[in-house]
Amino acid sequence: VIRKGGDWKTTGRSKDNTSQDKPTGARPSGPVPPPVEKLSRLAAPVTALPGVGPAYARRLDQLDIKTVGDLLYHFPRRYLDRSNVTPIGSVKTGQDATVVGTVCDVESRRTRSRKNILVVSLFDGTGYLSGVWFNQEYHREQLKEGVETAFSGKVQFQYKRLQIVNPSYDVLGGGEEGEGQDGMGPEGEDQGGGPQGIHTGRIIPLYPGTAGVTSAALRKLVSRALDMVGGMADVLPEEVRRTFGLMPLTEALREIHFPGGEETLGKARYRALFDEIFIMQVGLALRKKRREREGGGISHGPPGELVGGFRRSLPFELTVVQEKAWGEIARDMSLAVPMNRLLQGEVGSGKTVVAVQALLLAVDGGYQGAIMAPTEILAHQHYRRIGGMLEGLPVRVGLLTAGTPADDLRDIASGDVGVVVGTHALIQEGVSFDRLGVVVIDEQHRFGLRQRVTLAAKGSAPDVLHMSATPIPRTLSLTLYGDLDVSVMDELPAGRKGVVTVVADKSQRKGAFAMVGEEVRLGRQVFVICPLVEESEKLEARAAEKEAGRLAGEFPGYDIGLVHGQMKSEDKRRVMERFGAGEIDILISTVMVEVGIDVPNATAMIVEDADRFGLAQLHQLRGRIGRGSERAICVLFANPTTDEAKARMEAIQRYDDGFALAEADLRIRGEGSLFGIRQSGLPDLKLARLSRDFKLIRDARSVAFRLVDRDPVLSEGENVLLRWEANRRFGGTLEWLFHG
Ligand code: ADP
Ligand code: MG
Repeated sequence: VIRKGGDWKTTGRSKDNTSQDKPTGARPSGPVPPPVEKLSRLAAPVTALPGVGPAYARRLDQLDIKTVGDLLYHFPRRYLDRSNVTPIGSVKTGQDATVVGTVCDVESRRTRSRKNILVVSLFDGTGYLSGVWFNQEYHREQLKEGVETAFSGKVQFQYKRLQIVNPSYDVLGGGEEGEGQDGMGPEGEDQGGGPQGIHTGRIIPLYPGTAGVTSAALRKLVSRALDMVGGMADVLPEEVRRTFGLMPLTEALREIHFPGGEETLGKARYRALFDEIFIMQVGLALRKKRREREGGGISHGPPGELVGGFRRSLPFELTVVQEKAWGEIARDMSLAVPMNRLLQGEVGSGKTVVAVQALLLAVDGGYQGAIMAPTEILAHQHYRRIGGMLEGLPVRVGLLTAGTPADDLRDIASGDVGVVVGTHALIQEGVSFDRLGVVVIDEQHRFGLRQRVTLAAKGSAPDVLHMSATPIPRTLSLTLYGDLDVSVMDELPAGRKGVVTVVADKSQRKGAFAMVGEEVRLGRQVFVICPLVEESEKLEARAAEKEAGRLAGEFPGYDIGLVHGQMKSEDKRRVMERFGAGEIDILISTVMVEVGIDVPNATAMIVEDADRFGLAQLHQLRGRIGRGSERAICVLFANPTTDEAKARMEAIQRYDDGFALAEADLRIRGEGSLFGIRQSGLPDLKLARLSRDFKLIRDARSVAFRLVDRDPVLSEGENVLLRWEANRRFGGTLEWLFHG
């Protein structure tokens, strides 16, 4: 019945929620199984709800609520337990309190110093308390008279009144007469009503900030939405629910919006959390299965002349971890299923050597290989290094950047060039290959999914190797790269002395400079990284120029070079080449040298204002040194003021192992902003916390993958419901997730 695994789309936007809002993308030809029909009400547009017309739908749209399902999954940000609310009559000054009352007065005044004071007073039947703001008139918009509001903060007694300055507040409800203000009235479609007591209860849900949609209105709509989906089937197979002891879905949704008590709410939230994690893993498993099923990849032969010649030419033995990774890659490439593998290894662990073998394996069989780097500097460096490594071997290496002449493009298109090194320019229209057999994507997290997909599309299901020097905690890789195979190189080639990291403050500058002088005197080279200036590249460039001037004064007679983001790429490249050739002793740079630069003779690094950098970035930077057989030293000038910054500086000094550091980063910051997750197209995880939920993720993952193993397109029985839900949630994002 089903055309292709996991292919249903939830594009239904019609008001008629019984026939049109079913998935329409690739509808199975037969009738939709009855349980899905009822489920599909989740995909109905919000306008299917009584009282919601087009105008109100637009407001909901600003909250990213488009469908009935979106509304039901628009969860409260937090909950307020009324038993933790202090009656205003009994608050004490100095107390950190939460009070709930009705806004009874809103007033603004100007002070003598021409500040604007906004005073909003609450009354709760036991007394009055005011929230006070300076120059923040905009709070008026939400805090209108008659609105039920919670204030939290430190209570003061001043000017004969109880007050909280800058309270954090939540608008709980606009009162029942709020229809007009809610915007549902003018549509003339609101039939009023909703169950009794939906605005009361001991535990009060607080919703995320709203664009002209009050919590009261939301609750009313949610209540109607629950009625609409009432009796719908559960999206999870019974067996899974039993294994994990989960509350039924509709019950959980009701409980989350209208909590009955702490215990049931806890169970409901666990159910929602589980669904998010489990269904995402199901989506990843479906993707992986589909790729495997579609096949169409290239069965590369065993390593031939080129790979053999290359290996013999290396001046060193491959490490054990390099050999293991290469074995996994060669095996993947020999299969007809296109490879989709992530090669993860510390900076300097020798990924390039492994990747080159993959490129050559393709060429050995008459195909081409391409490697894409995130910057021009890196592409040039790869080109030089790989070109150098392959000298004497019968393969042509080409460079492809924005400035590549048409002749060279022709040689790539004709297949004369076997190994192509390039930037984003590789994926431009007009660039074509003869037989692209393998694609290597260096520093893969710097590319968007679309770019990676586009490059792969230049061949016919080529093998794809993603490379990353950013150590990713195991937890993250399970979710982020859930359908990738992963090879980890967690050992550096022998003979590396490593990097000693010192966090210093400005008073120790003299000592640091003396150290730099010493290294340079010994014929070694030094990086000086200038502060990160977030506002503009221009300011950053200026800071770098200033630093260059200062160092020129400190170190007369030495060659000092400068690179920054404002320079032409041609000039940047020339400086980097001179540094690589040892003609520059001290290189002042902005962060753009962050990735991939390989200068084994560089043994020292100074980073200015290091506390402005993230841990991953500092680790990358530090990886630029200690690549030779000399001990290297990295001095981080920092003046951390926040706890978080202090913790970061402590961690970077303590750990030189990237994985340990990544775990520390996860602990310090939570996963929110880690490693540019958003950019890599990870479906939004709203509830899951990777650091906290590791065990659950692992367990849910194994159950999800086993389920999909048994039923690869989820077409059997109640599994159909699960597939429908996986598509509703992640269809849009997973489509791009490592599509290959
Ligand atoms: P990555 O790309 O992982 O940062 P590279 O491939 O650039 O690392 O390797 C870093 C340096 O280590 C290079 O100079 C490379 O020639 C050298 N190298 C790679 N593998 C080995 C090895 N097995 N033994 C010794 N040196 C190696
Ligand atoms: Mg293959």
